[in-house]
Amino acid sequence: MTDTSLSSSPLSAGPRTSLTLLGTGAMGTALGRAWLAAGHPLTVWNRTPGRAGALAAEGAAVAGSAAEAVAANRLVVACLLDDASVGEALKDADLTGRDLVNLTTGTPGEARARAAWATKRGARFLDGGIMAVPPMIGAPGAYVLYSGDGGLFEEHREVLAVPAGTEYVGADPGLAALHDVALLSGMYGMFAGITHAFALVRGEDVDLKAFAALLVPWLNAMSGMAHGAAERLESGDLTTGVVSSLAMQVAGTGTLLRTAGEQGVSAELLTPFLELMRRRLADGHGEEDTTGLVEMLRG
Ligand code: NDP
Repeated sequence: MTDTSLSSSPLSAGPRTSLTLLGTGAMGTALGRAWLAAGHPLTVWNRTPGRAGALAAEGAAVAGSAAEAVAANRLVVACLLDDASVGEALKDADLTGRDLVNLTTGTPGEARARAAWATKRGARFLDGGIMAVPPMIGAPGAYVLYSGDGGLFEEHREVLAVPAGTEYVGADPGLAALHDVALLSGMYGMFAGITHAFALVRGEDVDLKAFAALLVPWLNAMSGMAHGAAERLESGDLTTGVVSSLAMQVAGTGTLLRTAGEQGVSAELLTPFLELMRRRLADGHGEEDTTGLVEMLRG
């Protein structure tokens, strides 16, 4: 296959960068669809060929192998299951002169190792963490965190911005994955709280939809405490601006646990966090809020 970079789009006067997409699973298909809709010539490859059919029907060229797909375009986007799949898919591909954008979820360490691996094989490398689910792709609100080669990012920023907004977080290729996993970890903490809250009220004379209508704005308001936490951690002074002291909060945790007991609800989602709060208080940090727990976790 020949390099078809910068071929003309029939949909608009301007040229559209052509690109290759490796992986047409749920996310890859959503990404590919957005690029095709915007007039970008797209070559796709998927390990199971039948799964590339939807994008082929919308105009994508289907390559017979990953190596062939990589040969088709300078810009190559991988959206595969995990880091091991990326190594496996690209083991026979010639990456010389390619710009590899890896939108496969992985750890910061995996991203750094994959960057070194790609650079050694003659490619520029950008890692990405997708902060969206497939139906959000192409709609406002979706964005991708990027880190790695800043030149690659600037050069391809426009085409990368087609399926989702772009947020470049630094030259260290591990930073996008680190941000991605940190944001996801924050989300699971919130899911744990939502789960416990519903367990408390379920089975009582409570309209669950009305309850959700109270819970969502409450969580939104409380999540704003992250700004104060960031300020305190950056300044190193963990007591300035505290409005809910740890001493007060720990005193109140008994009420949370007794209520769980009264409702017959396991407190297993709450107790690890409450236990950290108690230990921090016992260490003499009652004037702080929960920000000091960050220092405990980092050991
Ligand atoms: P899918 O399970 O739908 O697709 C996985 C893709 O990886 C398929 O193309 C699959 O090929 C391919 N694959 C798996 N193993 C290998 C391998 N050993 N060699 C080559 N190809 C392989 O997952 P998604 O598309 O949903 O996810 C893709 C990436 O996007 C993941 O890293 C995920 O974490 C990330 N992501 C997904 C989100 C989501 O909500 N879906 C949200 C944010 C990020 P085959 O068809 O042959 O199995």
